[in-house]
Amino acid sequence: MSNVTLKWLGGAGFIIEKGGLCIGIDLYLSNACMNEDGAFKRLMPPPVLPGDLDMDYLIASHEHGDHLDPGSICDLISKDTKTRLICPTVTKRDAMSFGVDSDRIILLNRGETLDFDGFSIRAVPSDHGDASPDAIGVFINIGGKTIYFMGDTCFRTDFMEYIGWKEDIDVLLVAINGKFGNPDSRDAAHFMQMLKPKLTIPCHFWLFAEHGGNPGDFIEYSESIAPGLASMLLCIGEKIEL
Ligand SMILES: [Zn+2]
Repeated sequence: MSNVTLKWLGGAGFIIEKGGLCIGIDLYLSNACMNEDGAFKRLMPPPVLPGDLDMDYLIASHEHGDHLDPGSICDLISKDTKTRLICPTVTKRDAMSFGVDSDRIILLNRGETLDFDGFSIRAVPSDHGDASPDAIGVFINIGGKTIYFMGDTCFRTDFMEYIGWKEDIDVLLVAINGKFGNPDSRDAAHFMQMLKPKLTIPCHFWLFAEHGGNPGDFIEYSESIAPGLASMLLCIGEKIEL
């Protein structure tokens, strides 16, 4: 099996494809997070325009603007697209406030699994604290591969019990920015050591100056904290086959 591809679109945004199936995760394709004073300006142009995507599903792990993009969500999920939004309750509420029709949204809360033709998604908690109490991470099973997108979550030593970990992971997608409750490079390397994925890809850095994150630090920490486990840095827009 496999023939599964993974593309990074910057920030925490990824596209997973297999055959004709296309699943997006946490796409931020606008500059909607920028404040009036210029803070949270995006540092890289979006690698695609919303209209260039033809997704079957878009997963949003939580409602924050760099994961549920107010500037593009209505273009991504509209009557002109086939795309369905998959997200937890608070994110659904916010998406509807931006103008997304409720019948285009599939709810996925912590502990729930959705089975589709060709893939399944299991939602686990991500500990984003009071900033987003129902935020999720997702285990995506597709083409015989298990991809774990952690979402925005702090590091905690009881993490395996916290998420109810029970399956081997082929690809771990982990934030490394170290701010707003997220793991830094050292925490991410500890996650890697705990979860022992076959491949780890860091994300959630260099989208905004305020976010922090240094992939070079992550590589160094992963080599010392999780020796023997593979990691890989992707270029924005790069697509790899899993
Ligand atoms: Zn967040």
